[in-house]
Amino acid sequence: MSRLESLFSAARAAVEDTEFRALRAWKEEQPGRHCVGFFPVYAPQELLWAAGALPVALWGGGDQVEVERADARLQSFICSISRSTLELGMTGRLDFLDGILFSSLCDVARNLSGVWQRNFPGMLCEYLHYPQNPASGGARDYYRGELERLAGRLAAVTGTEVTAERLEHAIGLYERQRALLRSLAAVRTAEPWRLSLEEHAALLRSCGRRDPRAQNAVLEELLALLPARECRRRDGVRVVLEGSFCEQPPMDLLRVLDEAHCFVVDSDLGRGMNWFRRPLARGDDPWDDLVAAYFESAEPSVVRHHDSAERSARLVERARAHRADGVVFCTAKFCEPALYDFVLHKAALEREGIPFLSVEFEEKMASFESIRTQAETFSESILFFAEEKEAVS
Ligand code: SF4
Repeated sequence: MSRLESLFSAARAAVEDTEFRALRAWKEEQPGRHCVGFFPVYAPQELLWAAGALPVALWGGGDQVEVERADARLQSFICSISRSTLELGMTGRLDFLDGILFSSLCDVARNLSGVWQRNFPGMLCEYLHYPQNPASGGARDYYRGELERLAGRLAAVTGTEVTAERLEHAIGLYERQRALLRSLAAVRTAEPWRLSLEEHAALLRSCGRRDPRAQNAVLEELLALLPARECRRRDGVRVVLEGSFCEQPPMDLLRVLDEAHCFVVDSDLGRGMNWFRRPLARGDDPWDDLVAAYFESAEPSVVRHHDSAERSARLVERARAHRADGVVFCTAKFCEPALYDFVLHKAALEREGIPFLSVEFEEKMASFESIRTQAETFSESILFFAEEKEAVS
């Protein structure tokens, strides 16, 4: 196995290990280390790291966890990630965590935090209320207050106060990671055949499963190796993938898109790892920097209650900027925020004449043949109409 392949396979193993062996080992390696889990999408990882805790992204259980105990506490008609995350907790797989953080994503995440508190009374369980009206005059002060409150709660568990110096350093670390992720995304945009969608997704998700210093080193090495990777240019259509900001599509589904020549050149996969669309402005106060980043640099997202017209306009802008031929909505079953957005985005794409395809997934999905057929038909129809257009002109 080449060095590149072994880096990809390690990233995938880090993401798919539902026993969290590597993270347990990381914690035991040095006394005083702490781990705090966060339910997607966005969490201020910088703050967790500055408080002496490794932020651990909870991506659900994929197809490896049978949901049995959680079913007694949650309805069956909610998204897979919430049910399998609770199952991970109920089966003791998350007992290495010192705390868990939920935030105001949707009703499901809100209620899950309550269920968690009742079932795990010995574990720190925090709920971060993001500002619902960013235009309000008091929103920034309010959000800073929320961050400071969270820092205090974390310090009570880790024993580490979040000082300005620690926060400044943590922001630098995660800024570096986001810059590396932007470079990786640029590889995929320019030459989608150089980095498969599965590999890209595994690398994104593994950012929430490793010490950020080690992960940055891995990303740097990968970016140095990728240009020399032997690969064959492939023909296909370029698409933006939208709707997978929280629960992540199965890897098999992502592979099917590549195989159907539907090349994803921009996406909201693992959005929390890529929450900010540009490098953050840095000033004298890192707390203010983190607050300003949330208001000024985040990608529009339905879970931030951003203006819906602005969200659709941004999707169209991303499609144009990435020279995409279409958009693939890839939404988790029962994910209300994503399904709500689909209705609004659909109207905007129809107005702009951008073709789109909509597919749904869940963690336990076993067959992807119907999605393969849809994706192949989608890419072939785009190519067909492009050839027709060329022949007429
Ligand atoms: S997948 Fe959708 S519904 Fe489920 S927790 Fe995430 S945002 Fe909420």
